[in-house]
Amino acid sequence: MNILVINCGSSSLKFQLIDAVTEQLIAKGLCERIGIDGSQLVYQPAGKEKMKTVTPMEDHTQAIKLVLDALTDKENGVVKELSEIGAVGHRIVHGGEKFAASTLITEEVIAAITECNELAPLHNPANLIGIAACKELMPETPMVAVFDTAFHQTMPQEAYLYGIPYEYYKEYKVRRYGFHGTSHSYVSKKAAEVLGQNYEDLKLIVCHLGNGASVSAVEHGKCVDTSMGLTPLEGLIMGTRSGDIDPAIIEFLAHKENKSIDEIMTILNKKSGVLGLSDNFSSDFRDLEDAYLAGQEASVRTMEAFAYRVAKYIGAYVAAMNGVDGICFTAGLGENSPLIRNLVCKRLGYLGITIDDEQNNKRGKDLVVSTMDSKTKVLVIPTNEELAIARETYAIIK
Ligand code: ADP
Repeated sequence: MNILVINCGSSSLKFQLIDAVTEQLIAKGLCERIGIDGSQLVYQPAGKEKMKTVTPMEDHTQAIKLVLDALTDKENGVVKELSEIGAVGHRIVHGGEKFAASTLITEEVIAAITECNELAPLHNPANLIGIAACKELMPETPMVAVFDTAFHQTMPQEAYLYGIPYEYYKEYKVRRYGFHGTSHSYVSKKAAEVLGQNYEDLKLIVCHLGNGASVSAVEHGKCVDTSMGLTPLEGLIMGTRSGDIDPAIIEFLAHKENKSIDEIMTILNKKSGVLGLSDNFSSDFRDLEDAYLAGQEASVRTMEAFAYRVAKYIGAYVAAMNGVDGICFTAGLGENSPLIRNLVCKRLGYLGITIDDEQNNKRGKDLVVSTMDSKTKVLVIPTNEELAIARETYAIIK
């Protein structure tokens, strides 16, 4: 069965068509600048060149229609007709406390996702538009919602509650939710496979280091803590997000700079992180790495602060689980940067970690990068959120 995986943003839409049985990618692509001038579709059947079409897309329905046309196109399509797409899997950012697992999309589910909108005002409404558009164009095709927050719903109360009046939790559900759950789940399971051990027997820490970055503690196959919170702003220093700060800084800066809370929040989300810390040098870790290696002061302090924060979270999660068997690195930076893995792991000598430099310099596949006798294993596991969504969708449709 072919599964269409859809990841809908406010002005973009990423898609992959995956054969759920063989788990092979059939085609993938991206619609950009939906509802904005210059919208374009990038479409790539597996094993072929990318094709770019600049064409107006007024809304997401039009974008999905173009995607479906591309997939069924006589010349470059990959299926003869739409009925060959057995199901659609939608990535949904926030499922609140309502969804601890993926679910078949019904009217009730759509209503429940809509109730989570205020927890993720930038993401959930766009995800819902994607659902509505697919429903309109493929009314008979079953759809599944796969939530970024679901994997973290196993966190115990002491990990998800904040030290603020309890009534805010009861009244508004202010608590830690965590994100990137599909990735943390996929990577931790894969790590157990690579180590040849039972998932349920292991204590694992997953470092998902991309533009957005988060760490999670996975004990015996269940998430017990994660660094992102009510929103994806908490935790690690990220590309442009601040991660943890003293909340009093918000008021302090609002006074000093004569700015509103909204303006300060924009600074914390879009102008902070490694971009802000490097004095606007770059939010891209490739630039920062090159400059770090050349000894540029801004990049040295930024990379060290980034790595320090990751190491600090690892320490916290070793405490949370009273031990750790493996530390996994994933996502753009985690998968591709031997340097960042070194900068983090050099702070973890107390865990008996030694890195195998030859392994650590390899790329693009599942790897154990610690030495054979390293007490705690260090792994690189390329994440694949789309495949994980296709798997979840298939499991439910079957
Ligand atoms: P997201 O999905 O959150 O946008 P990704 O997981 O794609 O993020 O990661 C993007 C980040 O990974 C960027 O900062 C990029 O610079 C970094 N990255 C990608 N490739 C490399 C590389 N070869 N070396 C260092 N950093 C890299």
